[in-house]
Parts: sequence; structure tokens; C-alpha cells
Amino acid sequence: MDEDDPHEPRPVLRFPHSRTPPRSTPGGFTDLGTGAMARHLRMREAGMTGHWCSRCRGVWFGYALEVECPRCGNRHG
Ligand SMILES: [Zn+2]
Repeated sequence: MDEDDPHEPRPVLRFPHSRTPPRSTPGGFTDLGTGAMARHLRMREAGMTGHWCSRCRGVWFGYALEVECPRCGNRHG
């Protein structure tokens, strides 16, 4: 199910394990790719956190502490 894991430290966007459109986001979202830090560290997808970019209106995935959108460089969410 899509219930939040109570053990997670803070609410995060779920990584889309499948390409089916998420039910909670009408119209879906743009996949902005993977953050530079996560790529550098060769993180597994399961260890990455979803980050919303308001400028791109999409979600990118990366290390939990990363703040910079890999698409446009926006650091303000
Ligand atoms: Zn962006």
C-alpha cells in the first residue's frame, strides 16, 4: 500500500518503482533525473529521496541532503 513508513525521519516523496502514474498527483509529474551527489556516490534508487522542484514542476531523486535540482540548479525547492 502507499501508507507512509512510520520509521522514515520525515515525509518524502515515494520513488516510483513502476511507471504507472501516481494516484495522488493528477497529471503526474516530470521526472527530472538524479542529483549529482547521488550519481557520484552511485546510490541505489531505493536509497534516494524525492525532491520537488517548483521551477521545473517536477521531481528529482537524490541523496537526502541534496538541495540542487539537476535540471535547472534551483536550490529552493
Ligand atoms: Zn528544477
